Parts: sequence; structure tokens; C-alpha cells
Amino acid sequence: MYPRIEINLKKITDNARVLNELCKKYGITPWSVTKCFCADPRIAKAIVDGGIEYLADSRLSNLIRLKDIEAKKVLLRLPMHSEIDDLVKYVDYSLNSELSTLRLIGETCEKLGKTHNVVIMIDLGDLREGVWPDDLENFVREAVEIKGICIKGFGVNLTCYGGVIPDNDNLGKLVALAKKMDEKFNLNIEIISGGNSSSFYLLQKGELPKGINNLRFGEVLLLGREAAYCTHVDGLHKDAFTLKGQIIELKEKPSVPIGKIGLDAFGEKPHYEDRGIIKRAILGMGRQDIETGAMHPYDSDIDILGASSDHIILDVTKSQKPYQVGEIVDFTLDYVCVLKAMTSEYVEKVIIE
Ligand SMILES: *Cc1c(COP(=O)(O)O)cnc(C)c1O
Repeated sequence: MYPRIEINLKKITDNARVLNELCKKYGITPWSVTKCFCADPRIAKAIVDGGIEYLADSRLSNLIRLKDIEAKKVLLRLPMHSEIDDLVKYVDYSLNSELSTLRLIGETCEKLGKTHNVVIMIDLGDLREGVWPDDLENFVREAVEIKGICIKGFGVNLTCYGGVIPDNDNLGKLVALAKKMDEKFNLNIEIISGGNSSSFYLLQKGELPKGINNLRFGEVLLLGREAAYCTHVDGLHKDAFTLKGQIIELKEKPSVPIGKIGLDAFGEKPHYEDRGIIKRAILGMGRQDIETGAMHPYDSDIDILGASSDHIILDVTKSQKPYQVGEIVDFTLDYVCVLKAMTSEYVEKVIIE
């Protein structure tokens, strides 16, 4: 069936192994992030086979899917009040920034006779989740009083909402704040978590501030690409995921539409380059399944012209290959397109062992 996304498990295991070894060299414990592939247990298992011992996801339902895999589970998105029971049952660590949530977790733990490990998030300017640094001391003073939870450390998330790049300033501040809280409240923290794939470039250069001992990796692990400057990392596979679509129409037509131009199917004003008469191929997949800006044809002579909900239109005029209706076109993928393809129920997932 097409469209399909093929996932090469061996390449994922290779990436996990290489990343894990690099992390070990610098005293970092990596958490592997599974949300991009909807926590498919076969892919998660390939990561664990590479030696990474933690599986982290933003969705609790995804972590529950992974319950039979032998690894520690981490909830990355702040827990909702409505999911605390399952959180305590299925998850070992969660990232937190709200006292009311911590109190609920504590109460649930007391009821179930369990302890839940907590990493407190600090907002260092990216303006998504996290306690504001000025409020941190009061926050921790109240949090340490909550029974049932164990404060294991502090963390930051960057380059998600605000696009802020991790550096010595913001990560140095994280370490300083974490150490200050540790001493002041006798926490014995184990974790200072310095961000996601956008912190990888610092690790690679050996320039992570001393004290950072944890990173959370999705993109760089799965796609071999660090996320601060979007460069490919030597030694990591970037093609563990391949998307394949089938040609349903192939015709020579003009490159510019004929008639008065209004808005396209997504309410946008389209722009067309006049290339004269071109060879246009339509694939049977569209924006419900993929993201045209985040996919790249293996055949570099193909241009992606656009897409509607269920169609992608390609210019195959310059290609050396004599494409036909029924043939398959392959693409490598960036993060957003893996996310979309893995989430779309119309895209078949094919595991390559
Ligand atoms: C998604 C997420 C990550 C992983 O991000 P990548 O850029 O894919 O490495 C790490 N931490 C948190 C809190 C996240 O939500």
C-alpha cells in the first residue's frame, strides 16, 4: 500500500549506539525521545538495543504503549491534572513546573504507596514551560514539603517556542540555579537536563557547561541532524526514514494555471514560476499525510511544486528517469514530515529489520 514510510531499525540502533557512546564520553545520560514516531514499540526497542536506557515522550498514551519495553519512562510534557493516576502507574520521571500538579502527584503517590521522580523545569527565555528564575526559590521551598514526590533535578527546554539557542549563558545559568537549590534545600539532585537536539552542537564541541549531565534527544537520534543550526552530524544516519508515494497521473501541462487566480485549497495566495510546458507527476498523498517543505526527493532532479490535502504535484521534467504512472517516488524526511507521516493513519508504516 502507498503512501508508506519505511523505517530502517538497524540505522536507528546504529544512531542510538553512536549517540550513547558520545554522551558517555562527556558524562551525559541521554533520554531518547519517541514522540516523533508516535512511540511505535518496534522503533523504541531499536533505540534501547543501541544502549539508551530511557524512553521519553510528551504524551502519556505513548508511554503506556511502551510499558512492556524494559527502559525507564519519562513524561516530557507537563502532566495534566486529568492524567495523574496513569502517570504514577506507568511513568518513572516527569518534567514539572506547577505546584498544584505536584501536589496532586504527591497525593496519588501516597494513595498508591509509590514515589514519583520529578524534574523541575526552569524557563531561561524560550517562553514555553518552566518556572521563572526569580520564582524558583519559593517554588522549591513549597515543593520539598510535598510528600510522595522526589525532586531529582532541574531542566530547561530551548529552541522550541522562542527559537533561543542553548549557549554558555543560559545553560550556565541553569547549572548555577540547580546547584544553588541543591545546596539550599539539601536535595541531592542527580539530574541537570540541558535541553534537546539543539544542545547537541555544544556536546559535539565538548563545550557543554560543566554540571549538565542529561540531554533529551529526538531529532538528532532519529534523523542525524542537530537542531540549533540544522546540520548533519557525521557518523549518524540521516535516512532511517524513507517516504514513498505512487504516481497517479503523469502529463505534460503548463507550469502556470489558466484563469483568474484566487486562493488555493488552504486559503493561501499561490505563486507560480513560468517554466513553460513541463512534465507534471501527481502522487497519491497530500498535506493530511506529509509536509512538502520537510521532504526531499532522492532524485534531486525532481521539484516539489505544491500539494493539496490528498495530492502532491511534482515537476519531473529534468529527471533522467522515465517515470510512469504507477511508479514509486522516494523522499528523505525532516522532523516535521516524519511526525506527520507517522501520525497519519493513511500512511502505511513498514519496518525494515
Ligand atoms: C520534544 C522534546 C524534546 C526532544 O526534542 P528534539 O529536538 O527532537 O531532540 C526534548 N525535550 C522536551 C521537553 C520535548 O518536548
